[in-house]
Amino acid sequence: MAVLHGWRLCPRCGAELGLEQLPARVSCPVCGFVAYANPKPAANAFVVDHAGRVLLARRAREPSLGLWDLPGGFVEEGEHPTDTLRRELLEETGLEVEPGSFAGLWMDEYGDGPDSESTLCLYWTARVVRGVLSPADDVSELAWFAADELPSDDQLAFPSVAEALENWRDSVA
Ligand SMILES: [Zn+2]
Repeated sequence: MAVLHGWRLCPRCGAELGLEQLPARVSCPVCGFVAYANPKPAANAFVVDHAGRVLLARRAREPSLGLWDLPGGFVEEGEHPTDTLRRELLEETGLEVEPGSFAGLWMDEYGDGPDSESTLCLYWTARVVRGVLSPADDVSELAWFAADELPSDDQLAFPSVAEALENWRDSVA
């Protein structure tokens, strides 16, 4: 895991980067450009229906293609993570949601291999305001799961999803 794995040339001016401070950062001795190896923030939701079931999304893309994930996605520049939640839920599920309480954060890794990225996954509860459930974007299937009928860990996309769902299951038990 190293987001700056393989970096050699400055993306701004093309000069050779200073690599002495890897894996934390690279810097350009010519133009002063610096890139830090920060985790990527993501915002994900526990959307629960009237029966107390949680919404999961089957991933249509790598990494973890075909495995179940909590709906959500990466925060864009300058975007508040609760706005990320609204945007990603609408894109992936067709639902307009309103974020509720903050449910916790878990660290994870996106992809595998030397250039996989560290992720900082933020979770909120969310309620459906309106919309019709329809999988789109990078989701192939959507389904509601009761707390005692969740997919097994090997059917979940990331370790953080298993941890977050375990935490949610304990909170509703
Ligand atoms: Zn440069």
